[in-house]
Amino acid sequence: MNADLERLIALQKLDSTAHDAEHRLATESERLTALDTRLEAARQQVASAKQHLADNQNARRGVEKDVAVHQGRLSKFREQAMAVKTNQEYHAIQHEMAFAQGEIKTLEDKILELMVEADDLTAAVKKAETALSTEQKTVEAEKKALAGESVHLKAQLEQLRAERGALVGAIDPKVLAMFDLVSKRRNGLAVAEARDGICTICHVRLRPQIFNTVRRNEEIIQCDTCQRILFFVPQTVANVTQPASAGNVHQ
Ligand SMILES: [Zn+2]
Repeated sequence: MNADLERLIALQKLDSTAHDAEHRLATESERLTALDTRLEAARQQVASAKQHLADNQNARRGVEKDVAVHQGRLSKFREQAMAVKTNQEYHAIQHEMAFAQGEIKTLEDKILELMVEADDLTAAVKKAETALSTEQKTVEAEKKALAGESVHLKAQLEQLRAERGALVGAIDPKVLAMFDLVSKRRNGLAVAEARDGICTICHVRLRPQIFNTVRRNEEIIQCDTCQRILFFVPQTVANVTQPASAGNVHQ
């Protein structure tokens, strides 16, 4: 194979790997924000569950105060009942007492209802707290992994830059300039495999004599359509045989 073509293929591999690493690093803060959003949502769930429980407890205290008011009236009526002088007065007080007792009964039913509801609300708080604690652990682990990945990617980029520096020094400057120009115009992808007479990136069929030259991998040839530098991968026994798993069936 043409030595420069071989270097360009290696250069493209370095550039694509660096591009992926840079992209991954650029989205790091976005991924951190997504993790914080997840955690905040879990915190909100806990806060909301606690608020529902507090509302229930406040409502219960309100009803209990009403019960106390009616009980106060009831004991006042009982005292008055001792002092009544007429049958009419006695009946009037009996009527008031029955009314207060009815109210108390209704309010106590309401308290029971709120207590049952409080059990569910307490369980909901526990559930939300457990979910938050799980989410905290997950997010912490993912942030740690992210920080580790960041260190790894930065080191990898350093390494790739060093390799690139060494590699470009060995390439014919004219060939390198062609590569850089195509790379700039074609979104960082300056090299394309030609397979079955087609440029595998722009998918346009090559002229037969061009494809025949590309097959020999002895010259720097550009695709007429996308200008990418073409190379050819000869079919070897290894890449034309069936996958191992399919082959094993017959063995
Ligand atoms: Zn092409």
